[in-house]
Amino acid sequence: MRSVSIFLLWSFCAVGADAQLNESSSLHEVEFSDLSQRDPNPLGEKALAIHPEQWKHAESEHFIYHFVHSYVATPISVEAEFHYRVIAKELEREQSASDIKSHIYVFERPEEWQQFQIFGKLEPWTGGIHSAGSLFVQRNPAYKFSNNLLGHEIVHLVLHRLYTDSIPCWLDEGLAQFISKNAHASYERARGYIAKAHSESVSPQELIPLSALVAMTHPPSDRVETFYDESERLVRFFATTDKSSFLALLDALARHQPLETVLPRLYAGRFTDISTLEEKFGEYATKDFGTTLQQADD
Ligand SMILES: [Zn+2]
Repeated sequence: MRSVSIFLLWSFCAVGADAQLNESSSLHEVEFSDLSQRDPNPLGEKALAIHPEQWKHAESEHFIYHFVHSYVATPISVEAEFHYRVIAKELEREQSASDIKSHIYVFERPEEWQQFQIFGKLEPWTGGIHSAGSLFVQRNPAYKFSNNLLGHEIVHLVLHRLYTDSIPCWLDEGLAQFISKNAHASYERARGYIAKAHSESVSPQELIPLSALVAMTHPPSDRVETFYDESERLVRFFATTDKSSFLALLDALARHQPLETVLPRLYAGRFTDISTLEEKFGEYATKDFGTTLQQADD
């Protein structure tokens, strides 16, 4: 058994919550047979079958990691636990999460990642694969990630734990962008940079009608960017309009209730149907489009 100790001091102020991460993080390598939980996902088995001798394993409070080098996996574990805490707090779900851990597989060599990709569907935005609560990513140890891509994938994992029966695609992708962008900006601020969450506005000509957007079960291949930007804006719109209604909305949509039946109940007097919502949201989604620097009020 080996362990790597890295002292990490992260001071975040994320998603409106003062989340402080100030910890000595140590990821202890354990034997596969000693892991507290197995991954029932068949993709996990396929991943570990690629050069089976190279995989090492470790656990943190809410995640299980499969990796090649500890120094690559340790920062991932810090980011994963950080996002877990931020999301559980923001969505007020600290008490209700299950104790089932999510599995994260970290590939390093591009040729092995290519070999694995044929088994799963790449998320067009991040290039990671998330499937049934497990995450598969490639990280090149020589290349330091400096954007919200890993955060985006980790938000999906946590949402899957909190809402096990799945949530609509726009909400899943919109929340993943919204939360990871805010968290990333907070991280930059903690390092002394002036940073605000960068929310992209949508071209009025490109705007996907809401009734179509909320019915999509995957990002449309010809409008990937618009889909992610518009979904992020829609989540931001709901979350900043009224937090408690947004949490109730999330809860109802996670129980597969249609948006059009939920709106009049939760937003009486504001937007009682999709077309009133569309009018108000259209303005918000396209605001400042075409200006060089768009910054959302977070
Ligand atoms: Zn995503």
